[in-house]
Amino acid sequence: MSADTPIENPHRRVPSVDALLQQMPEETARWGHQQLTAALREILADIRTQISRGELPSTELNAIRNRVNAELADSNRASLKPVINLTGTVLHTNLGRASLPQEALDAVVAVSAAPSNLEFDLETGGRGDRETHIEALVCELTGAEAATAVNNNAAAVLLVLNTLAMHREVPVSRGELVEIGGSFRIPEVMQRANCTLVEIGATNRTHLKDYQNAINSNTSLLMKVHTSNYQVEGFTHAVPEAELAVLAHDHQLPLVIDLGSGSLVDFASLGLPAEPTAAQAIAQGADIITFSGDKLLGGPQAGLIAGRKDLIQQIKNNPLKRALRLDKMTLAALAAVLKLYRDPDSLLQRLPTLRQLTRPQAEIAAQAQRLLPALSAALSGRYAVTIADCCSQIGSGALPLETLPSTALRLTALSGADAEIRQLAETLRQLPRPVIGRLHQGALWLDLRCLEQESEFLEQLGGLTL
Ligand SMILES: *Cc1c(COP(=O)(O)O)cnc(C)c1O
Repeated sequence: MSADTPIENPHRRVPSVDALLQQMPEETARWGHQQLTAALREILADIRTQISRGELPSTELNAIRNRVNAELADSNRASLKPVINLTGTVLHTNLGRASLPQEALDAVVAVSAAPSNLEFDLETGGRGDRETHIEALVCELTGAEAATAVNNNAAAVLLVLNTLAMHREVPVSRGELVEIGGSFRIPEVMQRANCTLVEIGATNRTHLKDYQNAINSNTSLLMKVHTSNYQVEGFTHAVPEAELAVLAHDHQLPLVIDLGSGSLVDFASLGLPAEPTAAQAIAQGADIITFSGDKLLGGPQAGLIAGRKDLIQQIKNNPLKRALRLDKMTLAALAAVLKLYRDPDSLLQRLPTLRQLTRPQAEIAAQAQRLLPALSAALSGRYAVTIADCCSQIGSGALPLETLPSTALRLTALSGADAEIRQLAETLRQLPRPVIGRLHQGALWLDLRCLEQESEFLEQLGGLTL
């Protein structure tokens, strides 16, 4: 280097934010001035730091343009997005439970994009009640006199207890002090509802006389909780709902049943494990029942409360109701799903939850055969793919011991290394539409029971980089 060549200060090559902004009209239109400016400032600061460390990062316009576009695209990508559920658990709480039918999606869009008659009576022009949109349907499908709905079944139980049992006692069998995932425990909910739990019976056996002995002048109601996510087996006894109803009514007490899932159709008639229906519980004498909207019902997250008109009115009048009420999107989706139940013949095809739960294994196995060649090709060299029988679960704590025969694509690493199969599970989770399988005994199982997006699944395989 000759003495008269000036040594260029590399910091001088770093463009200014203003100069970059002037040369990025397209980016300004796409991302907006504020967001683009902030991103460019960060990139330039990073470039200066690199230069100070003696590195030579590119300061070319195109390099910076590509980087800012990539970074902004990344930070603007939705965090909450659809995935492909191949876990084998149909109602997977961590994957959002029930998928909604098209009828519900259309209803949500229609009432969300414009004002609606949510609480407006179109006949009188006066104020309406948001529950008119679902109450009659719930009554029709359960046989109850009246109904209301809140944010989820946990809220339903809280609201019912707070309304009907505040400062009073509620006897519950020790066999039914349920904990649902996500820290919902009956004893704790009772405490928050401001009522006193009176534990009766034993873990495995509770008799009618246990309820009888617990009743006193401060008893508010009798309660039964469906042990949805576990079963007490062996030497057991629980009091049937109908008997408990007679006892409650002899003492002028309401019988409240938390059904958990609470189906609206007879599961046994669909070839599925039996589950108490909401209508059965009402017919057996329950004065109030509560159940989830997004478990076996197959609808949006909601907690349905149905039963005696006077009690439902008290529940609606509780100030807490306002804090727990449903919004218009959920009401629209719920009403659309409930309407599907009016035509049991088309229900199984139209409602994704029941469609997936009743999907014949032969159909799942045929799908596995169709997918095998493409998946084997995409994974060849590192993984083997076989077709294997497996068992799907219903999920959401519903019918925990019952499984449904299904078929999976079973992926194993040719090297046999556990790390390799975990790596594959991660790669699949990072696809544009993540594919979630189940790791079991050193293999990645893709249970195809819920695969309704077959072509999308196949298209993504092309983009797999192992
Ligand atoms: C699932 C369940 C709940 C909670 O319902 P969410 O809708 O999840 O709030 C309450 N009780 C029982 C028995 C359940 O199974």
